Amino acid sequence: MRIAAPFAGIEAWIFDLDNTLYPTGATIYERIGARMTAYVARATGLDLAAALELQEDYYHRYGATLAGLIQHHGVDGRDFLDDVHAVDLDCVPPDPDLAGLIARLPGRRIVFTNGARDYAERMTARLGMREVFDLHFDIEAAGFSPKPERAAFERLIAHARLDPRRCVFFEDSPRNLETAHALGFLTVLVHETGAAPDPAAAHIHHAADCLKTFLRRHVLTAPPSHETAA
Ligand SMILES: [Mg+2]
Repeated sequence: MRIAAPFAGIEAWIFDLDNTLYPTGATIYERIGARMTAYVARATGLDLAAALELQEDYYHRYGATLAGLIQHHGVDGRDFLDDVHAVDLDCVPPDPDLAGLIARLPGRRIVFTNGARDYAERMTARLGMREVFDLHFDIEAAGFSPKPERAAFERLIAHARLDPRRCVFFEDSPRNLETAHALGFLTVLVHETGAAPDPAAAHIHHAADCLKTFLRRHVLTAPPSHETAA
């Protein structure tokens, strides 16, 4: 297997989970969001409309609703994670093609999510790629510091003993890629078709509207014909 030039020295392939390893069309993320709103309402006594507003405010301010709930309401992180991720994954279609492509990436393969590890493992199992990943690193492993906080990345780097200059991070959130870029990771924004990033955004090194196509065309390149003929 030949790896294309910008990725040739990569030792760890790191992937966000939601809206990166499975498409935004799946309704799972919305279902988790609705459970979060209900949780915020219970934890704060707000009605659902006000809870949704607070949930979004915390998401924008901290990178994850949970970080705000811990800081301002003393919420138990484990309890929150178990509750909001109690969703049925049946609506997510398995993706054996993507599983096969990721399995061909040489080096370690890591899921890095602001969600919970149990949920991440259930999701990669559902997608048919549980076994291709060496590590599912969640917000609890990150000490409840969410991406894009630098501390979240630093905990992952320390835990997995990563050299950021030999890591690539695939993510649908541009702001999470800012931290990755600042720490020396190569970055790939996985975005919806028609939502290409600003080419001037220095923290986005590559952009992909289809992760599978990107891996096929720009990472996993076929060996030149003289090699296959030999
Ligand atoms: Mg995501």
